[in-house]
Amino acid sequence: MRIFVAGGAGYIGSHCCKALAKAGFELVVYDNLSTGHREFVKWGPLIEGDIRDGESLTKAMRETRPDAVMHFAALALVGESMVDPGRYYDVNVAGGLRLLEAMRAAGVDELVFSSTCAVYGIPETIPITEATPERPINPYRASKLAFERMLKDFEQAYGVKSVRLRYFNAAGADEEGEIGEWHEHETHLIPLLIEATLGRRPPVSIFGTDYPTPDGTAIRDYIHVEDLAAAHLLAVRHLAAGGAPAVLNLGTGRGDSVAQVIAAVEAACGRQVPLTRSGRRPGDPPALVANPSQAASVLGWTAARELRQIVADALHWHAANDHSPRAAAL
Ligand code: UDP
Repeated sequence: MRIFVAGGAGYIGSHCCKALAKAGFELVVYDNLSTGHREFVKWGPLIEGDIRDGESLTKAMRETRPDAVMHFAALALVGESMVDPGRYYDVNVAGGLRLLEAMRAAGVDELVFSSTCAVYGIPETIPITEATPERPINPYRASKLAFERMLKDFEQAYGVKSVRLRYFNAAGADEEGEIGEWHEHETHLIPLLIEATLGRRPPVSIFGTDYPTPDGTAIRDYIHVEDLAAAHLLAVRHLAAGGAPAVLNLGTGRGDSVAQVIAAVEAACGRQVPLTRSGRRPGDPPALVANPSQAASVLGWTAARELRQIVADALHWHAANDHSPRAAAL
């Protein structure tokens, strides 16, 4: 099978490419390298193109004739989406529409979509099932949900079948250390903690110590990027075998607080993380934890790795690859 990986040069996309290649799939990456990295495209050819460029997409898809598409090509920063929502709707919604149109033009009708638990907003109950009401409270979340809605409509009208995977907190890196989390503007907790401990960044601010949680810091469900990649492979196989379209939470079902993540990073690094404290980040829910049982029943998938492994693999990657602003300035 050949998979067209839109956004395959990014963090999660590149880990999926590696897993696809290891499992014997052929793949082609379509990416404009706006946030992805040429160095991460190692398992198939790269077609450089924008997700909003319908002509380029259709040409690429007609030429490569994939059996299915994986779609990661999106913007994903909440803060940025609030100051520039137009760009988020343009890339994540209009770009998604161009992708679906190109699929129809090329006769491709199976898609695995990289969605997010952020569509649930601030949920009233934990753990979160797929039946938890969606409350997208910022443009990023709204744009992801809008594309999910589009998929439902395309399924009914045109028979495009999709699996929509709602990730919880993707983290960690390839266990062989070949690729990892490399964002130009890093905002995520684990890479910030590791890089601060390695002396590459200023102390990390803990956003809120007064949450209604056992230690007062916010709880998230951290899911290893290789476990996410495994779920994508199963989703593609599910669709190829005639499986029904689905929306699935991808998490471990376990929550770790910011304080617990800090302790895990300190244990892995063997030293203290430099820290400061600040108020809550606006829009941050106190706790987000998945009920992943639907992914288990539909795909036979469960997360195999826990926080300790996530931090160990992330540390392995970061120790050997300094992409911090400090390194960029040298
Ligand atoms: N966080 C923090 N300091 C930081 C970055 C994140 O305390 O510099 C907290 C954040 O408030 C959240 C958790 O760490 O509770 C995970 O944040 P991240 O940005 O990694 O993912 P999110 O859950 O926001 O998608």
